[in-house]
Amino acid sequence: EPGGNVRVVVRVRAFLPRELQSNTQCLIRMDPTTQATTLLAPLSTDRAETPTAGFAKAANRRANLEDRSFTFDSSFWSHQREDDHYAEQADVYNSLGEEFLDHNFEGYHTCIFAYGQTGSGKSYTMMGTPNEPGLIPRTCEDLFQRIAAAQNETPNIAYNVRVSYFEVYNEHVRDLLVPVVPAQPSYYLKIRESPTEGPYVKDLTEVPVRSLDEILRYMQMGDRSRTVASTKMNDTSSRSHAVFTILLRQIHHDMETDETTERSSRIRLVDLAGSERAKATEATGQRLREGSNINKSLTTLGRVIAALADPKGNTPRKAGKGAGGRGRHNGEQIVPYRDSILTWLLKDSLGGNSKTAMIACIAPGDYDETLSTLRYADQAKRIRTRAVVNQDSMS
Ligand code: ADP
Ligand code: MG
Repeated sequence: EPGGNVRVVVRVRAFLPRELQSNTQCLIRMDPTTQATTLLAPLSTDRAETPTAGFAKAANRRANLEDRSFTFDSSFWSHQREDDHYAEQADVYNSLGEEFLDHNFEGYHTCIFAYGQTGSGKSYTMMGTPNEPGLIPRTCEDLFQRIAAAQNETPNIAYNVRVSYFEVYNEHVRDLLVPVVPAQPSYYLKIRESPTEGPYVKDLTEVPVRSLDEILRYMQMGDRSRTVASTKMNDTSSRSHAVFTILLRQIHHDMETDETTERSSRIRLVDLAGSERAKATEATGQRLREGSNINKSLTTLGRVIAALADPKGNTPRKAGKGAGGRGRHNGEQIVPYRDSILTWLLKDSLGGNSKTAMIACIAPGDYDETLSTLRYADQAKRIRTRAVVNQDSMS
């Protein structure tokens, strides 16, 4: 189909030790049949001591907060392992990653990004741990398994896989596949835009990889590069957006017609900065250089999603914002991709030639942050992209 909506799923994580210690309430319910996700208003703190079997009466709830229900394409309950509908890493891969890899072999670009506050499980979902690998290593594994299988069955198709890994930090692009040498002129990379390929990172390392081991080594190298920098720069990973990209080329030679066709697809896997960053800086009006820049990529992402979700701008806006016909063109809202590095680079993935999914990661006990994430996700559901098969005839 030419147009499809952004696929939106939600995943709730287990309590962390500190949350268990402080007796945090789990405010999330997920209905495995309807996929509905409900956020319960927390008990007011003075009444929380008297447990009413988990479901408290409305009177016990914090004034002016309500239970809120949302429905997404899938909901992953990763809160308690004992539960029947507990979603493991493999379940997330099987229900989303696998299908997206099918699309890549068909010749479509895809993008999966994880959104949510710091500590909500984005990196766990995308990267995972050595014992519980996430979407990225599972995609790599499946990719090379499929290539190995295809090479036996269809020897007239040649496969070529390349990988790149960069982060956007403080409105700068940093290559994660080169050694960390801060404060060098070449350290940050520039963005260019090509008429055919769209925006891209100039001089970004793109390494050819031939095996699972090799690609995983680059993944770990990039991850280490992110962590090394973060110990120097105070918690980079919650402030930076990490973009892992796999480029898959399938070169098909038709023996009968002697025709060569090439399919090329791009697999983007994005671990976004903690979503609380956008609001924290907005709310306090902080003008710290770093703060306002982080704000920029995330707040611009929010504006891009809002514009794409509502292309005609029908939703009433607050006075002053976007009023007077500014930011419109032929009755369509102008999507402010170029207002931040992240949205510029992800332009295609957000509103163009890509099949795209968003994983909204939520913590079990944080009403305000979770409501904001679920609202964001709810808006992303309305975005339509226009994915096409990227195929060229070469003879
Ligand atoms: P983020 O990247 O959003 O800041 P992390 O992925 O680092 O958050 O998760 C925070 C903590 O919660 C980590 O210790 C992580 O291992 C743990 N965690 C997150 N999601 C899960 C999950 N589904 N199951 C078990 N542990 C999880
Ligand atoms: Mg993280």
